[in-house]
Amino acid sequence: MDNHLLKKKISDAVEQERGRLLELCERLINIESVTGNELKVQNEVKKIFEEIGLETDYWIPDDEKMRNFSLYSDTGETFRDRPVVAGILKGKCPSKGKSLIINGHVDVVTPEPFDMWNTDPFCAVIEDGRLIGRGASDMKTGLCVGIFCTELLKKYFGGVNNDITIVSVPGEENGGNGTAAALLRGYTKADASIFPEPTSNQIQPAHRGAAFWRIHIDGRSSHGGTKYKGVSAVEKGIKVVAALQELEDTRNREICSKNVFYKDYPLSAPVTVGIFRGGQFTSGVPEHCMIEGCIELVPGENVEDVARSLEKAVMGVCREDSWLEEHPPKVEWFGLFYNPAQTGPDHPFVKLAEESYQDMLGERPVVNGFEAGTDMRLLNRNYGVPGLMFGAGDIAMAHAPNEYVEIEELVKNAKVMAFMMARWCGIE
Ligand SMILES: [Zn+2]
Repeated sequence: MDNHLLKKKISDAVEQERGRLLELCERLINIESVTGNELKVQNEVKKIFEEIGLETDYWIPDDEKMRNFSLYSDTGETFRDRPVVAGILKGKCPSKGKSLIINGHVDVVTPEPFDMWNTDPFCAVIEDGRLIGRGASDMKTGLCVGIFCTELLKKYFGGVNNDITIVSVPGEENGGNGTAAALLRGYTKADASIFPEPTSNQIQPAHRGAAFWRIHIDGRSSHGGTKYKGVSAVEKGIKVVAALQELEDTRNREICSKNVFYKDYPLSAPVTVGIFRGGQFTSGVPEHCMIEGCIELVPGENVEDVARSLEKAVMGVCREDSWLEEHPPKVEWFGLFYNPAQTGPDHPFVKLAEESYQDMLGERPVVNGFEAGTDMRLLNRNYGVPGLMFGAGDIAMAHAPNEYVEIEELVKNAKVMAFMMARWCGIE
């Protein structure tokens, strides 16, 4: 079909079916699904897939097999009552199109603090053109756009030439084992992938990596009146923080701002101190200090190397401080520890996304990198499937109270997404 006609048909169909898009979003937002508690929402996703007439695969991953899988991140979680669901729209003539995986997570972070919400986080509310509720941005609406567009292409165009596989996963917010489970199941092959995470409708073919660190610093306690007899672990900790800020600066100047997708951000890759804890008594010299935080990295870097650079920065402080030289801080790595990923700016799928956006909305898209991590790395780095993030929500709204998405942005996102899908997968 001629692109101009296709664009018009898709735009009209999305307008026609707006109500259905909102209905799907509301159905998922209305089900509480904080990480670990995804059974009910996944059952609803399965129901939706069946309603649409997709080939449906619903399974509970085997805990032992998962633990032995190389892509499992060691969270100690169980998959009991945590199914993964895939819905497949089989292509009509695969040689005339390319295949696509749409991967979305149904788990959300806790809505706490509850009293910051003006509405019930697990009851979707529409107000002033916004859809409000936990997951409205990150990323139940994104997953629903993927489902909605698949249904639309089936209903209005009789389907597409190559396969569309929607993978609905649990457990993204604590490390990505739901996506790992889908890969273990065999959902590893596609010509491209979309992770509809909240990108404010920017096209983001890259995401950061991240690693959580914890630093323990020992001092020597003393009564504050004889401070000179002790060594303040907090004051030593402040020196360590200064070194980390310097590391952040140097990394940004020399490495991270050189990445094409991160060069325009005020900070290409942050080093964040999240917790600084030390001391026991107002007038006592603190014996111990603990600092926790996250170092982020951009595509092209490796998480192991970046971790070593942070350790080196901490050791650098020791060389200039005789106490720390004799009592070096201990650096631990815990929780998140993963690599970044990217699809090249000239990849045909990225180009198609840009063109589809421009044609559909009549304006140039912003193309840059996602300011956090996503599950894309698992499919991209291990199976070579190119991918990008594209969703209507705002990352600043993710995990925040009164999370919402602008409905007009959601509709725009669906128009571009359906257009992209039709062109990539092939349509008659
Ligand atoms: Zn997300």
